[in-house]
Amino acid sequence: MSSAAWFAAYAPLFAVLGAIFGSFLNVCIARWPKDESVVRPRSRCPGCGGAIAWYDNVPVISWLVLRAKCRTCGQPISWQYPLVEAITALIWVSALWLLGPSVVAVRLALVATILLGVAVTDAQSYLIPDGFTVSGLAIALIGALVGAVLGEQLPFVGPWDAVLGACVGAGAITIMGWLGEVALKKEAMGYGDATLMAFVGALVGPVRALLTVFVGAALAAVLFVAIVYPIGWIRARRAGAEFTPPLVPFGVFLAPAAIVTLLFGNALLNWYLSRVFG
Ligand SMILES: [Zn+2]
Repeated sequence: MSSAAWFAAYAPLFAVLGAIFGSFLNVCIARWPKDESVVRPRSRCPGCGGAIAWYDNVPVISWLVLRAKCRTCGQPISWQYPLVEAITALIWVSALWLLGPSVVAVRLALVATILLGVAVTDAQSYLIPDGFTVSGLAIALIGALVGAVLGEQLPFVGPWDAVLGACVGAGAITIMGWLGEVALKKEAMGYGDATLMAFVGALVGPVRALLTVFVGAALAAVLFVAIVYPIGWIRARRAGAEFTPPLVPFGVFLAPAAIVTLLFGNALLNWYLSRVFG
């Protein structure tokens, strides 16, 4: 079969798997910041407390059928649920398109799903729950071992580089946070950023772990210094209030940086080194 035929054959399966993982990701995003179990109890409507039937819990479709309202009490259901499910389905289909029907495609889809959860949770609550980073680190390390057995590893690194990468990633972000604290005289980095970079480092290895921190910091700097801070400052001045700079949810930027580095980091490094050293 041609690669296009393979893609057409597997795309529906990956889309459905992605939507199911996206549905579970919604549960993790809602419950982990509150230290609640993601297994029990079953999903309930926050309005009336009624259990949600399976046919009202089908990813994306139920939200559309119910027109974004609880069947029993009519309480609005956030558009975030179908959006996360749709993006996760898209992640899974993209992983298939990039890497073909393979174990590495499933590994890419799984870790990108977790990184999406990290970004959403950090943006909403300034938290990176251990549930994401611990399961991510486990998937990264087990994936590296499985990849070594199968002889199919790219774009991920092998087991030894995965362990080194976890240490370098967590170490680099911790040093950055420490220096930031000394410079700004206030807490600059959460513990969650270090656990996130242990997970990411185990995917990309030590060199690209450093690149991830650099790309993430650059993304955060551009967005906050160029857009968020000036808008906040102007608003505060207009209101006659003092401007207090908002915290930077660094995981929001590290998560996409990790995907960029995983997929394009080596090409980016080669291009840069060839420009600098000819
Ligand atoms: Zn309800």
